[in-house]
Amino acid sequence: MRPIALPVLLLLAPALALAADRNPSARALADDAVVVDTHIDAPSELLKSWRDLGAATPDREFDYPRARQGGLDVAFMSIYTSPEDDAAGTARQKAHMEIDAVEAMVGRHPDKFAVIAEPRDYARLHQGGRVLLALGMENGAPIGDDLSQLQVFHDRGVRYITLAHSHSNRIADGSYSLDRPWHGLSPFGEKVVAEMNRLGIMVDVSHLSDESVEDVLRVSKTPVIASHSGLRHFTPDFERNLSDELAKKIAKGGGVVQITFGSGFIDAAAAADTTAYFRELARFQRAQTEAKARGETVQSLEDWDAAWDKAHPKPPTKLSQVVDQVDYAIKLLGEDHVGLGSDFDGVSGALPEGLKSVADYPNLVQALREHGYADATIRKVLGANLMRVWTAVDAAGAKLRGGSR
Ligand SMILES: [Zn+2]
Repeated sequence: MRPIALPVLLLLAPALALAADRNPSARALADDAVVVDTHIDAPSELLKSWRDLGAATPDREFDYPRARQGGLDVAFMSIYTSPEDDAAGTARQKAHMEIDAVEAMVGRHPDKFAVIAEPRDYARLHQGGRVLLALGMENGAPIGDDLSQLQVFHDRGVRYITLAHSHSNRIADGSYSLDRPWHGLSPFGEKVVAEMNRLGIMVDVSHLSDESVEDVLRVSKTPVIASHSGLRHFTPDFERNLSDELAKKIAKGGGVVQITFGSGFIDAAAAADTTAYFRELARFQRAQTEAKARGETVQSLEDWDAAWDKAHPKPPTKLSQVVDQVDYAIKLLGEDHVGLGSDFDGVSGALPEGLKSVADYPNLVQALREHGYADATIRKVLGANLMRVWTAVDAAGAKLRGGSR
């Protein structure tokens, strides 16, 4: 065979890489397996700037055509509210509006989407290739100090709650927070966990401080999840990611750690920057509040954010870094306790090469196969583990309620 000239090879290289990305056999496995992603931030993005996610939406990371391309079956829509929403008293209102936005997606495209609230409805709802939308609430702020709100949001379909976000709240301390008023769960937070157990809502420990995770593991009677977390092994001192010890406790309790994709969580330098961001943000907000009280005009949060992003570009990351996390997690926890929670639409596009949207799960499948993992193991990571935990939490809730559904 005539050797191919180097310039031609260089020209071919991107095409060859693309061909590998579209490995039909990896795509077939992603298609056939139940693929569950426990963290996609589409709803809060919709409130900021509406799109029709039933059609191709290139400036977002989740839409129907790419979900189908990637083999995604159950997409947990993050019902996210910020500590700022909490402070302003608007978190509950916003959470309802985000759920309305999800329901509107289904209403607009009943042939493409359905809300899934019970794991046993999977096969029925999935017929015809629908992408199923499950609801996970990120930040327990919408509950306020009213336990009965858990029933309200359960009735609307919420099936996991991340107890706190970047600040400590009424329920628990957060991992980025400078203030740790509770040193774990608050007394109210313990009641929240007990009521979530009873209702069959999964308790999510992502974003929590170590002390909070410890408390959740002590109080929860049902398996817990980390909906979108990395492992601290790769990002020393980054409390937002799970220590080996806490990850092992989650697994021992029957739960699952859903590995997240964002560059700010899988890369040590970027993770240190993520912590610095939230610490500086808290300081900025404090200064902003004080300046406002003095009647001074102050820089807006948006402007401050934009300046920070400009001064702190995220380093490029690779698919192999996510594979390393999954591999380490499987070795540490066993193949029954690892899953995926991308954080698509939640990290301003700071994602590894090859994992840029919901079209890309087959790339991860291919990489895990190349790493030597059997398809049976890959299927567990793709979604079977999460479906098992969800089913167990649902059943345990029914038992705690005395057999009533
Ligand atoms: Zn998050």
